[in-house]
Amino acid sequence: MSDCIFCKIAQKKVPAKIIYEDELAIALEDISPQAPVHTLVIPKKHIPTSLDIREEDNALLGHLFQIANRIACEKGIAKRGFRLVMNCNPESGQAVYHIHLHILGGRQMHWPPG
Ligand code: 5GP
Ligand code: ZN
Repeated sequence: MSDCIFCKIAQKKVPAKIIYEDELAIALEDISPQAPVHTLVIPKKHIPTSLDIREEDNALLGHLFQIANRIACEKGIAKRGFRLVMNCNPESGQAVYHIHLHILGGRQMHWPPG
């Protein structure tokens, strides 16, 4: 999608600190980190919200989780614990309408979330 910031990042039209890439997805460091580790895992396919995930995307979503798990292990937060978040629509705080998994870790998380 032409006016989507994450599509532009995936197409290298906008710079970002990309730490992983394959044919289906990228992982990049969040521009405004909310924890010592705050990495985003994004499919290259433009899917606006989690409500738009279709049956045909099931393997892609599993792939995003595999990437997130690997990054959590590599960054040393897997055993301590971390949070995977996908916001959906305005009351969740979703700001970018191209699905992304937030990997948040490196500090104590709280519940309920804000
Ligand atoms: P959301 O609120 O949609 O779940 O999360 C969007 C996330 O994307 C936010 O954490 C925000 O800091 C991050 N973000 C927004 N624009 C950019 C950008 O241009 N580059 C990077 N690296 N992160 C971004
Ligand atoms: Zn997009």
